[in-house]
Amino acid sequence: MTESCIFCKIVDGELPSTQLYQDELVTAFRDLHPVAPTHILIVPNAHLASTNDLTPEHAEAAGRMLTLVPELARQEDIAESGYRLVMNTGADGRQEVPHMHLHLIGGRRMQHPLG
Ligand code: AMP
Repeated sequence: MTESCIFCKIVDGELPSTQLYQDELVTAFRDLHPVAPTHILIVPNAHLASTNDLTPEHAEAAGRMLTLVPELARQEDIAESGYRLVMNTGADGRQEVPHMHLHLIGGRRMQHPLG
C-alpha cells in the first residue's frame, strides 16, 4: 500500500466506496463521478502506478481484472448491449489517479471514434 494513494485506501477500506467485488488480487467499485449509467473501476489490490509498471509477475492480477469484466457486465445488465473498457496511462492518456485502473463504462451509446 502506498500511503497517499486514494485507490490503495479504497482497496483497504480506509476510504469509502461502493464496492462491487473484491478478492485477493483485485477490487471493483463504482466511479465517484460516473460518465454513464454504469461506470465501474477495476484495480489491482497491489499498488501499480500505471500500465508502465506491469511486469510478467502481474499477469495473474492483470488477467483477473479482465476476466472479471463479463461477470460485472452481466450483473449490470450491459453484457448484451455492450460497453467500453478504458485504461488511461500518463499525461497524454489523461490518467488522473496514479494507481492502475480499468474503466468499465456502459448503459448508453458511446461516442465514436475514440479521442
Ligand atoms: P483516470 O482519469 O483514468 O485516472 O480516472 C480516475 C477516475 O477515478 C475518475 O473517473 C474519477 O471520477 C475516479 N475517482 C476519483 N476518486 C474516486 C473515489 N474516491 N472513488 C471512486 N472513484 C474515484
